[in-house]
Amino acid sequence: MENEMGKERKVILDKLYHAFEIVAEGSYVYLCDMKYDYSRWSEEAVQYFGLPGKYMYHAGDIWEEHIHPEDQASYHESIEAIFSGKDLGHDMQYRAMDREGRYVVCTCQGTVLWDKDEKPDYFVGSIRNHGLVNSLDSLTGFQNQYGLFQHLNVLYSKREKANIMMIGIGHFSTVNEMWGYDFGNIVIHKLVQRLKEAFQNVGVLYRVDGVKFVLLSRTLSLEELSKRYEILRKEISEKLEVDGYHPSLQVYASAMEVKAFEVNPQAMYSCLEYAYNLSKEKGNGELHIFRDQIDEGRDNLLTLVNVVRKSVEDHCRGFLLYYQPIIDANTHKLRGAEALLRWQSAEYGMVPPGKFIPIIENDPIFVRLGEWIFRRAMEEIKPCLKEYPEFVLNVNVSYVQLRQDSFVAMVKKNLDSTGYPPENLCIEITERCKLIDINRLLGILSELHAIGVRFALDDFGTGYSSLNILNQLKCDVVKIDKVFVDHITEETKNAELLSVMSHFAEICGSKVCVEGVETQEQCEIIEQCGVDSIQGYYFSRPIPIESFFAQFMCQ
Ligand code: C2E
Ligand code: CA
Ligand code: CA
Repeated sequence: MENEMGKERKVILDKLYHAFEIVAEGSYVYLCDMKYDYSRWSEEAVQYFGLPGKYMYHAGDIWEEHIHPEDQASYHESIEAIFSGKDLGHDMQYRAMDREGRYVVCTCQGTVLWDKDEKPDYFVGSIRNHGLVNSLDSLTGFQNQYGLFQHLNVLYSKREKANIMMIGIGHFSTVNEMWGYDFGNIVIHKLVQRLKEAFQNVGVLYRVDGVKFVLLSRTLSLEELSKRYEILRKEISEKLEVDGYHPSLQVYASAMEVKAFEVNPQAMYSCLEYAYNLSKEKGNGELHIFRDQIDEGRDNLLTLVNVVRKSVEDHCRGFLLYYQPIIDANTHKLRGAEALLRWQSAEYGMVPPGKFIPIIENDPIFVRLGEWIFRRAMEEIKPCLKEYPEFVLNVNVSYVQLRQDSFVAMVKKNLDSTGYPPENLCIEITERCKLIDINRLLGILSELHAIGVRFALDDFGTGYSSLNILNQLKCDVVKIDKVFVDHITEETKNAELLSVMSHFAEICGSKVCVEGVETQEQCEIIEQCGVDSIQGYYFSRPIPIESFFAQFMCQ
């Protein structure tokens, strides 16, 4: 293809490009040679959005993949109209995904230049990225996450070390629910005051998400930050008062050094969030410091996360899916399979998901990987449906994926493009989803239920509000966690518990799948507990698709 377009036209493309670049101050520029559909884009756009390069064939198709699923149709229509000569240009707004998987609002203006035969010759335009511009949070006056990343980029480019701390309040929605939003806003104002008193002269504060703040300090050590945080935490949880009321606030925090400049700032930030979640899980509000420890004497966790992130950016290279069969508890016939993610590289070998998912599932980049998982799983499993028309493919999703506005559209798009029947798909969600507004979550479930997709509540019984969640969400399947199976042969109490849970699930209209069944003995007990299906090493470990076909398919 490269040779099709003569050198001469390439020179013209470059010349025109430079002319437009000068006038398009502060925006990205693109110029497309429409005869060959060959474009040149700004280097800044290539970097920011993670595009393949500044020269691209079919850049419109590549760009379309970055556009929010809900905005894709109008973009597509507009580009078609331009290339067919129907429209002379466009002026539109859409959301586009940056290289980290975050959507930014862009306005795009473009116009067609005609050749002397009045045929479309060049398409030239600019894209303005508004995500970067509006970085001030109106409620607190702090900068938001974009501001933070701009600051981090500056530190990285100068290789200046700093310390970073994340401080947040857990379950803040209960404050809003109990006392109302105005009260909640006053609480946030007071929090902001306290944060300023404690840290303003030693660093820059950002409001990154809800009631979550980040401090970037070049002067305080982690120990000093830790001391100041302890004082602040006591003050907030014990003394904060609004109109004579004391809202009980649970404060959590994490911190780490910013010094690994070879690692992407977002990878560092994901580790900070991971450490913050650990502080939350521990529950006592202690600061959790992420030390870039040598994990199990081998891998440096931060570097591993960085490499895994790069693989996602590089079209999910190195990722693959294994499939673990799900078996009918009565007939022992194949009912379906759960897709389980793996990552491998020459340096790290095969890495189990437990090592990288808990960290990168906080990362916006997981949204890209999540979509890849859906598409790949449906493509790979589709041939099974001929032999097993009732086959159900289970795909895990994480909280960040569900939080995206585009989640439902993304699932529908991939069902369409793979031609996979919705009723043969089951989406596994975990209790972490309760972090999402319940009405939003119910909306997602009902929209996808409406087209036949099923839902399973994973790891049931490991969190403290399982029963409540199950009752609210009306999932089709409940997957009972392995911990209930582990000692089932030793203690009758566990078998009874399993029967009670199955019964409860039945009342809620859900079927029960038991996970982590490893022995025949366990299997026999479980079969007596009224469960519907079983998954575990006793039947099969997760295996590559080829092995899955070899084991379960006739042809
Ligand atoms: P999960 O969703 O609860 O998946 C079941 C895990 O239990 C799998 O571990 C599976 O290999 C393991 N397992 C199944 N049967 C047995 C058994 O009999 N004995 C034992 N000891 N283990 C058994 P795996 O593949 O390492 O995955 C770990 C976790 O990583 C998953 O737990 C899930 O939370 C997450 N994960 C895996 N793939 C994905 C994915 O595609 N997306 C998301 N969001 N998370 C994923
Ligand atoms: Ca699962
Ligand atoms: Ca599970």
